[in-house]
This record gives sequence, structure tokens and C-alpha cells, in this order.
Amino acid sequence: MRSLWSDADAETSVAGYARQGVGRDLALRVYTSRLLGQDPKLVLHGGGNTSVKTVARDLLDEDVEVLCVKGSGWDMATIEPAGLPAVRLAPLCRLRARNALSDEEMVRVQRANLLDPAAPNPSVETLLHAFLPHKYVDHTHATAVLSLADQPDAAERCADLYGGRMGLVPYVMPGFLLAKHAADVFEADPSVEGLVLLKHGVFTFGETAREAYERMIEMVSLAEERLARGRRTVFAAAALPASIAAVPEVAPILRGACAIADPVQAGAYRRFMLEFRAGPAIGNYVNGAELARYGQAGVATPDHTIRIKNYPLIVPAPQAGGLDAFRAAAREAVDRYVSDYHAYFARHNAKQTVKKRELDPMPRVILVPGLGLFGLGRTLKDARIAADLAESNIETITDAEAIGRFQSVSEADLFDMEYWSLEQAKLGQGQEKPFAGQVAVITGGAGAIGLATAQAMSGAGAEVALFDLEEAAAKAAAKQLGGSALGIGCDVTDGAAVRAAFDRVAAHFGGVDIVVSNAGAAWQGRIGEVDDTLLRRSFELNFFAHQSVAQNAVRIMLAQGTGGCLLFNVSKQAVNPGVNFGPYGLPKAATLALVRQYALEYGGEGIRANAVNADRIRGGLLTPELIASRAKARGVSEHDYMQGNLLGREVTAADVAQAFVFHALALKTTADVTTVDGGNIAAVMR
Ligand SMILES: [Zn+2]
Repeated sequence: MRSLWSDADAETSVAGYARQGVGRDLALRVYTSRLLGQDPKLVLHGGGNTSVKTVARDLLDEDVEVLCVKGSGWDMATIEPAGLPAVRLAPLCRLRARNALSDEEMVRVQRANLLDPAAPNPSVETLLHAFLPHKYVDHTHATAVLSLADQPDAAERCADLYGGRMGLVPYVMPGFLLAKHAADVFEADPSVEGLVLLKHGVFTFGETAREAYERMIEMVSLAEERLARGRRTVFAAAALPASIAAVPEVAPILRGACAIADPVQAGAYRRFMLEFRAGPAIGNYVNGAELARYGQAGVATPDHTIRIKNYPLIVPAPQAGGLDAFRAAAREAVDRYVSDYHAYFARHNAKQTVKKRELDPMPRVILVPGLGLFGLGRTLKDARIAADLAESNIETITDAEAIGRFQSVSEADLFDMEYWSLEQAKLGQGQEKPFAGQVAVITGGAGAIGLATAQAMSGAGAEVALFDLEEAAAKAAAKQLGGSALGIGCDVTDGAAVRAAFDRVAAHFGGVDIVVSNAGAAWQGRIGEVDDTLLRRSFELNFFAHQSVAQNAVRIMLAQGTGGCLLFNVSKQAVNPGVNFGPYGLPKAATLALVRQYALEYGGEGIRANAVNADRIRGGLLTPELIASRAKARGVSEHDYMQGNLLGREVTAADVAQAFVFHALALKTTADVTTVDGGNIAAVMR
């Protein structure tokens, strides 16, 4: 690991922040915090923290000595001065004299001493920073240091490597007691340049930002060099099937096995997104014969347990062509994981004076021999964080096993972290959106109705994939939606392309729950004289494509075993034919029958099939030219033509989107058609 310090960059940072009224001390603190935060081998996703002791002006214009320390919710990779709230230093230091201080009280004291009452909560490791005398203090969870610090004989190994340069602090959960222990260790030998917190991480400190930062880089580099020496071959490979099933087949099975059925509302599930990762390091790890031992030996640093629980779920290798057996084995493994989790919770909760609220028992990481790993989360973003932490744990554990044996903190310590009172206090805050945890696919996704539907679904919490004939349009629409939306170019009349697109969705999100088969186009012609090719083309898009989309959706939904929702954009033409609209209305009538056939044949598996009949929506099929010609043909203004319905109101793409949202939410409704046309008595369903 090399130091990325640059005098020029540091001065640019100082000059830039000076224009915002930020002093030199804090500007340099931001600069090196970012250097640390941008290296995943040092910190990941909000882990680690840094501080600087300086002077700041309070709200009464008085200069006070403060500790600017990382605030919660900030990531070091992108931190700004506002992410390092200033806390009065003297009151923090006075706390050292106490014998005990609860986490809640600690948070209250820290908040009470913020210079800015609106600032974020200072880190739970604030007191550790405050009790050390150095101007700059840096803390990371460096993977290389953890490979040494997560060993049964970690203290000896660290003492060997660092000599007297680093103080060693035995494991104590972060908070007041750890801060006191760390300060005691430092004071026993004030010549140390930092502290190794066994089974947790590493602190370095110095009088300048550069000194503290470069000490961190040096200590981590020494650990890296140590790990490169005297390695034994790790993880003898297990025997695996010759041919392994593919990710798009495996992911929906695992996703379904980990979905939690709602005990109150039949047909509702708490589902997860799955993020897949593979590569040589992951392969070497998950394919090891002793995976059950080292793979379940705990996390590299205890705060990972909040995101990825104490250990991953391990399932058997999925043999290609043997997915029924894999599905049964995966479900059995999940059941075992869940019952072990309940037992773990009961065992440790019994010892608590303040009883805890049990969290959901599902794994956040799944290891699949022969394939790789999956991170699980309620959103794709959370699933990616879980996968990142899993990869980092694999690196730490692999290196630990190469020179010794990986050992995490005890189960009781992990429980204390997972069920930390400060974490428990966050439970139940913030209502989840109705489609949280669900994946929606929308065909014709870049068109007016498709995009409006995607916006409505994504606004209600769904992860969305858009299919469109034009790949660029699909990608642009996905970008417009933001977040993790996926845009895929797909000609829905090409069966192989539809299959490949659904496989991409399954690999990307883990599966599919809601499908809006919306792509369509209108062809006209007097039915007795219409060109046969034109009629067949319309059937390809307005009927067969719906069948191909539904077939692929059902394939994935059945693998998940958690039901699903098929939605079709039909048309009033299906029930109320218009002159010369036979080529459009006939396949739409067949699609209406298709909706009912799916409802009939897959209701038993919890898959619902519903349709929306919309009429006169601007954009898509109804171009400005068409509006003009139809209005003219009827002898009315364009304005009156668009409002020519019983309610006298123009119907918009957003109105159609709301009908799709309603159907996706209506868990007891199937084989239904909802009309969104402002009222047209000739087109009512009968
Ligand atoms: Zn830490």
C-alpha cells in the first residue's frame, strides 16, 4: 500500500475550503479522510472514522477547543467538512473520570456539546478520539491488519510485527469502555504511533494530517508484507459437479427460498434483491473443502455483523440440469439457517436485562460452491453493500488462514453488536414503500405509458428493469429513473432475445415479481382486404410477444415460488372493435384471452394475471398526426377529441400507470380488466 499524499493536492484542498470559511486543520482532515475512505482495503461503506482537534467559533462567536470527528451517515470516501461535526473537547475529556456511561447517555452528552445543534451524531468512537492527545487520529478496518488481528494468538503476532510501535487493545465493544481501555494502553507507552484493536481494526495518530495518514499506510503495508511471507496453500478444493447451473437459474431459487411470507396478508412476501459476485478469490474460497469451518467462523470486524449477520448461508453446488434437487437443498439450508438464528437470538436475549426485538432471520450473504457469492438486501444498493463486505471478509479470512487460523470475536460479542441498543433504537423508523423488495419489468419501457408506469412503480419502491426495442432509449429511460434501474434493448417479438433479457434481470436483481407487458403498435386495414404479412406482423407484436414475455416471467416466478403479477396492456379494441382496426384489435382480443388463460392456469401458484384497457393516450401509438386526422374525421377540435369520453377528461399515461400499480397491489385480484378511458359505454366490459 502506497501513500497517496500529495502536497499540491493538500494545498488545493486547503485553498478550496478556505473560500467556504473552513480552516486549514479541518481542510487537511477532509483531504486525508478521503484518501483513506477511497481505498476499500482500508474502509468500506461508512466504516472507519477520523478526527482533528482544533479551534472553532461557536454560535456566540467565542473560540473553543473542539474535536471535529466523523458524523454518522457520512462516508469517508466522499466526506465534506459538514461530515466532521465539531464537539466541545473539554466536556468529552471530563467523561474519562467516570466508571461507566451507557451508550444512550454517551450519545446525549456528545449531542449536547455539538457547536451546531443541527449537526449529525458524532461517531460512537468519538470518546476514543477525544481521550488520545494527538491532533490527528485515523481509524480504519484495514483488511491486512485484520488478517493478523483476527487470530487466536493475534497479540503475539502483532507484537512480533510492530515491535513497540503499536499499542495492543484487547477486544471491547465500541463505546465508553473501549475508549478508556485504548487511552490506558496509549498512556502505558506514549511513544506508540498507533493502536491495534484486536479483532476490530487499527488507529494511527500524529501531530499533522500527513503523519497520522502515513503511519496508517505504513502499518497496513507492514501487515501486507507479513501476509506475503510463509503462506501455505489455503483451501484445498472440494469435489464439485462437472457442470454448474448458471446464475439466472440459481438466483431466483435462492431469492424465493429467502423470501419471508407475510403472516397476516396471504400472498405478500418480504423479498430481497440479490447481487452476484464471482472471481478467482471468491472461487478459491467458496470451493474449499473446509468451507463449512472457515466460512462460518464469524466476521472480520464486528460492525459488519449489522449488515451481513454473523455468518453466511452455505448451499450445495447447483448442478446443471439438477435444479429440483438444488431447490430442495437450498430451502432446507435456509430453514436450518433460520432455526439456528432463532436459537441464537433466544440464547443471548435471555441474558439481556433490556429485552431485544428480534431482527429478520434471513442471511445477507449466500455462498454457492462452483458459482460464487450473493449479497442480499432490501434494495439493490443494500445487496451490493452486503456483497462488498462479503468480499472484504473473504480477503481477510483467506489471508488469515494462509498464515494461521482466522478467529472472530465470540458469539456473545457479535450478538452485542448486532443487537446494540443504538441500532435497536432505529428499528421501525421510516415506513417502507409498498413495492420495497420487488422487481418490476416493463416492456415498451421508453414509451409514454411504459415510462410513466416505471416511474410510478419505482416511486412506490420497486427496482425496475425497462425493455425497449431501442437499447439507447431503454438506457436513457433507466437513467432518467435513477437509482439502480436497468435498461435493456430487447425486440419482444424475438423469443431468444426475450429469454436473454429476463435472464439478465434475474442475474442483476435476483428475480422478477411484477411484469408489465406493455409494448405494442397499431396497424390498420380493412379486414377483408388487408395484407396477410401486416396482420401477421401485428399478431407477432400484439399477441405472441405478450405470450413470450409472460412465459419467461412465469419461468422465473415458478423458480422463486412466491407468486407474481402479470400485467398486460390490452386495448378497448379487444372488446369494442373500430372500423379498419382489425389488424390491431384481433391480436389484442387474443391477448385478453391470454390474460384469462394465465389467471386460470397459474392462480394455484400465486401468479395473478390482469389487464388494463386504456384509450386515447397521447404519445406512443397516438401521434400528433393521428390525433389531428381522427379529430378531423369526427368533425371536432383536437381538444374535444382528447376529452371525448363520459367524464369529459383527457386520460394520461400517468392514469394508466396508476391502474397498473393498483393491480400490482391488489393481491386478491386476478383475471380482471381495468378500463382507463374516461368512460366509453360502448367499450365497457361485459
Ligand atoms: Zn471501528
